[in-house]
Amino acid sequence: MTVARFWREQENRYNLIGVKCGNCGKIYFPPKDMCTDCHRLSLGKMTGHKISGTGKVVTYSIVHEGPEAFKMQIPYIMAIIELDEGTRITGQIVDCEPEDVKIDMPVHTVFRKIHEEGKSGVIHYGYKFRPTIPIKSESKKED
Ligand SMILES: [Zn+2]
Repeated sequence: MTVARFWREQENRYNLIGVKCGNCGKIYFPPKDMCTDCHRLSLGKMTGHKISGTGKVVTYSIVHEGPEAFKMQIPYIMAIIELDEGTRITGQIVDCEPEDVKIDMPVHTVFRKIHEEGKSGVIHYGYKFRPTIPIKSESKKED
């Protein structure tokens, strides 16, 4: 991957820019060069499309094991989100306890720190999802 391409992809992820197929109207995120339905008919017709970042939970799993960089966050919720545009993407759900996540729950994107590299202190950001309707937890912590 070239440096320019790397940064372009970073920028697309940060701004939630997908592409729209000019032939059938299907939206892809992350962007693709070609529509998987239209193939050659979509060549040169894929245009940038800012996605809404709102959707709902299709399915999810609670992750209890993870790479070292994510250990602080365990357990965390990984979900497949169907965006309003119809595209499905995988993301972490934050501001929600594992027992509160529900199928079909409305969510929207937020930008959060993904992890911090120990030695270099480089902080990686990316999109995550949080519930659109605030979760009222009954087991609220007392101060
Ligand atoms: Zn298409």
